[in-house]
Amino acid sequence: FNESFEYPTSPELMDWIEDHYPEHPLLTMTKQQHAETETHTDDETPSSSSFLSSSSTTVNIQPNVLDIGCGFGGLTLALSNALPTHTILGLEIRTKVTEYVRLRILAHHKDHPNLYQNCSVLRTNAMKYLPNFFRKASIEKIFFCFPDPHFKRKNHPRRIISERLLSEYTYLLKPNLGRLYCITDVKDLHNWHVEKCGNHPLLQELTEEEMEEDVCVKLMKSETEEGRKVIREGKFGHEMYYRVYRRVVGD
Ligand code: SAM
Repeated sequence: FNESFEYPTSPELMDWIEDHYPEHPLLTMTKQQHAETETHTDDETPSSSSFLSSSSTTVNIQPNVLDIGCGFGGLTLALSNALPTHTILGLEIRTKVTEYVRLRILAHHKDHPNLYQNCSVLRTNAMKYLPNFFRKASIEKIFFCFPDPHFKRKNHPRRIISERLLSEYTYLLKPNLGRLYCITDVKDLHNWHVEKCGNHPLLQELTEEEMEEDVCVKLMKSETEEGRKVIREGKFGHEMYYRVYRRVVGD
């Protein structure tokens, strides 16, 4: 990979609205609320409910759902649709793939006016720069879908889920609310995920029932390009293994 990455020295320097989400639905809603407030100011009998939050609303648009190693962006787009008031960001290290996803999102904007405005893509090395982009406890969901397995033992330190990086991910996740998702079709890598996440003091495994209730679990199987491959080849015994972890309260 070309290792020249641009990144801010601190998350406060990011202008997410300007650079990634200029038409975010939450912005549009707020603009509408303000417009309504102004219209109703002249109204004889304004309905008080339409005023409730309009004058005090401050919208804070920054990514709270990260699709790490988003590849061609299938899950990023599906999450955008499934979580319309969240702010979704796909992160991808490959320049051409990132550009493909950027254009794919733009095509979706064209084909579906007012939809997919809450998703974007960023080219970066997610193993190096996440705390430069995102604030502590600002992330609700972080996805690791079919990460590169790095089979050889000497390459295990290059795996994107590791003890050290889990501490970075838990730093970014909101205590109680935050969830970390991992899925792979490589059994050995799945065992690695279960071991590393299971041993982390700030992560707690969701039960089978809790996982099946989470719409994102369905999406990470059916909407990722790699998940689709597994489904297509399912009849040949190709399987997917996954877990979801809750970020518990702690330091
Ligand atoms: N998540 C997608 C899916 O499930 O279809 C793509 C999976 S693909 C096997 C792994 C992706 O992670 C590749 O697109 C690769 O370029 C990207 N990747 C690998 N290391 C990365 C890193 N350090 N930061 C960001 N993306 C990375």
